[in-house]
Amino acid sequence: MSTVLYPDIIFGPVHSRRLGLSLGINLLPIQRKFCTFDCVYCECGLGDMEGVKKLPTADQLETALRTRLEKMRAEGQCPDVLTFAGNGEPTLHPEFPEIVERVRKVRDELFPTAKISVLSNATQIGRPEIRQALLRVDNNILKLDSAFEETMRQMNRPWRKEFSVATLVENLKAFQGRLIIQTMFLRGTYQGRLFDNTTEQEVSAWIRLVTEIAPHGVMIYSLDREAPVSTLEKIPAATLRQIGDRLQAATRAAGLEVKVSVAG
Ligand code: SF4
Repeated sequence: MSTVLYPDIIFGPVHSRRLGLSLGINLLPIQRKFCTFDCVYCECGLGDMEGVKKLPTADQLETALRTRLEKMRAEGQCPDVLTFAGNGEPTLHPEFPEIVERVRKVRDELFPTAKISVLSNATQIGRPEIRQALLRVDNNILKLDSAFEETMRQMNRPWRKEFSVATLVENLKAFQGRLIIQTMFLRGTYQGRLFDNTTEQEVSAWIRLVTEIAPHGVMIYSLDREAPVSTLEKIPAATLRQIGDRLQAATRAAGLEVKVSVAG
């Protein structure tokens, strides 16, 4: 099983397919993944939610971010984006709203043109304080891998039995367009069960749902790095582009920005 855990609060910068030169912010433990999903494709590996979680404080994060950005400035590097990602779901951090404000403050002081992005699985967006915090970042990037609950249960493996796509979609709509949907297209088997979110039925239902949610952007991608499950199949670039074109055609009037990320 492949496992790539980020070893620090701040990581990178890395050239992201989707975001440009990105400095990563990891609010999660450095020893293990901490997430409300356990996606079959998670590059942090598969894992549970148990055990002690030592999380960085807002003060530690601010100090680490300032130190790294000052170093980048001294070296003539300029990040395009500061990205909350790392070893799990960033909105699970109990100080997430405060940390967003700290990151905004440091960004405004040192690299005011850099965007702030959050890559989130959207499981916490029903909490008002999390929704408000996500509205304070430039790129509020939320996961929706399928319109079908069964497929999401297979691909994303939510820990909470009560997980519901219907609730997720209502919460996504509540952003009133101030969000970007990210979707991983993938087929494969896990524990003997087949899934494929690129079938006609899947893609047309996903397009209908995205149209209803009305985000200002959509990011489409497939596997890039090695996944913890070996029975997964990367979707070809041409298929991803076709899905992107269909979505663009279906939402032309809405001015939606569709980005198709193809691994190099
Ligand atoms: S939501 Fe992201 S961090 Fe969580 S299991 Fe899925 S891929 Fe991994």
